[in-house]
Amino acid sequence: MTKSQLVKDMLSALDNHEYLVYYQPQYDHSNAYMVGAEALVRWDHPQQGILGPYDFVPQFEDIGQIDRLDAYVYEEVCRYLSTRLSAGKYVVPISVNCSRQDIFHSDFVDRLEDIRKRYDVPARYLRIEITESAAVDGSFIVADFVEKLHRLGYVVEMDDFGSGYSSLNVLKDIEFDVVKLDMKFFEGTIGGRGGVIIASVVQMCQGIGATVVAEGVETVEQADFMRSVGSNYVQGYLYSKPVPEQAFDQLLEQTTIAPMRPMELSYTTLESSGFSNPESQESLIFNRFVGPAAILMYGDDGSLRHAKINSRFIQELDVAFSEEEFLSLDPWTFFDEENRAVYQAALDKAVEKGEDTSCDTWCTVCSDLCGDAKVYLRSEFQLLGRFGNAYQFFASIRNFTLDRLSYEAVEESERKFRNASEQANVYAWEYDIPTKIMRPCVRCMRDLELPKILNNYPESAIEAGIFPPDYADMYRDMMRRVDEGESNLEAVIPLTADRIPFIVRYTVERDKHGRPVKAYGSATLVVDPQE
Ligand code: C2E
Ligand code: CA
Ligand code: CA
Repeated sequence: MTKSQLVKDMLSALDNHEYLVYYQPQYDHSNAYMVGAEALVRWDHPQQGILGPYDFVPQFEDIGQIDRLDAYVYEEVCRYLSTRLSAGKYVVPISVNCSRQDIFHSDFVDRLEDIRKRYDVPARYLRIEITESAAVDGSFIVADFVEKLHRLGYVVEMDDFGSGYSSLNVLKDIEFDVVKLDMKFFEGTIGGRGGVIIASVVQMCQGIGATVVAEGVETVEQADFMRSVGSNYVQGYLYSKPVPEQAFDQLLEQTTIAPMRPMELSYTTLESSGFSNPESQESLIFNRFVGPAAILMYGDDGSLRHAKINSRFIQELDVAFSEEEFLSLDPWTFFDEENRAVYQAALDKAVEKGEDTSCDTWCTVCSDLCGDAKVYLRSEFQLLGRFGNAYQFFASIRNFTLDRLSYEAVEESERKFRNASEQANVYAWEYDIPTKIMRPCVRCMRDLELPKILNNYPESAIEAGIFPPDYADMYRDMMRRVDEGESNLEAVIPLTADRIPFIVRYTVERDKHGRPVKAYGSATLVVDPQE
């Protein structure tokens, strides 16, 4: 194909709608949550199939028409976002690429705005990527461009940081919100000089308040390394290649509905003060992408306050509260002395050690609607910063009340079982009906020299000589009735070699379908009233 033919086809492809937008998701490597995506253009060529941007983007730039392609991509992205948003679905912010020429087109931002407004997409869902090389010369024009985007509420990203231009000056002169580091610019093995450079770049970006996204991350080692230097956001083949819209839709569905452990975004890179602004990125994440969580204020005077909770927080508590009602309560009233001490120790430790902490506590929350409710909560704390006389925490919660109660029930029954067996004259055991496994009490084990479990009960016990042979059939019959679920069975049976008479009793427990599942047996010495 001649070059002029390619150019002709390229332009008519705009009208024929042959360009597709692929999306490459970005993840928080600390919890595999999706945090954004980049829009990357493809040409679905009628003869040649899917072509990558290197086959036509440079040509669009050569003929000075890249702005048309970029506006096309931008429109596709807005259409996609607005479709999801108007269906009430979650979205992540989408980054779009912007060529150097776009920056020098004085009306480019106005065109973006026209499109965005036409689709009614909030600017915070759109991020503009400017490649480092575009930013290098004519810095003040770029700085103006970025400032204009900022005023309109866009997030602005520097693409390909570290690709070899005078990166540091650019960072100093232009206020980028996000810096994308391409792993391929740091050559080969992680660690060594490359590793040191990356670590200091991350530190520097944190210093100027920019978030770092590692791009071209292909291996777990690269992603782990980034996390180790305090930067969790990654984009690359390790997680996903750029995918067509439909596939991305599915990724988005899976990510947002997956019941992963509560979100622990790297809030160190997000401004904690942003939580007070409902339009901020932090608030968006807090309300939409995070599991049950609260922002806590822990005062130097020991006071505690929930500054903010998300809707999942109330759901997790499982108590009928309105958000306002909950926020008006003093959290310390939820705790008894012992549990308060546990909770406070976890907060203090997070302050002292600067590390994330967690604790399990019982809380009694009382609402106008429900009255008192006792809940067993696991809380995890992440210190966000200090505001006035208080520390601000990100606290995620999980409600473990049911697990805790069933655990306690088991503990309680085991305790009773142990105590009962230790009382004189009583032997006790548990019999599992479906498996025919018998678990004797400690006293049975000691006096009758029984193992911890007896399989194939009662045959194994009969064989062991605990039941005399002439009583074996009677006992088999009793066990058959137990298996059938007959409760409150009772018989006098002489036990052990000494044929001491015992009253053997059974109670049977059924599951919620009414099937007999467990039986509790006891043997009490028959006391002769004459003695
Ligand atoms: P870019 O903006 O740096 O985009 C990232 C490129 O790296 C993409 O290539 C992506 O597919 C690729 N990539 C992602 N993860 C990995 C990885 O783990 N390993 C490797 N080796 N590569 C990875 P793609 O889609 O071929 O895009 C190439 C370039 O074309 C882009 O580089 C961007 O500069 C340009 N481009 C793409 N879409 C547009 C657009 O809509 N407008 C403009 N002006 N340029 C675009
Ligand atoms: Ca890019
Ligand atoms: Ca890049």
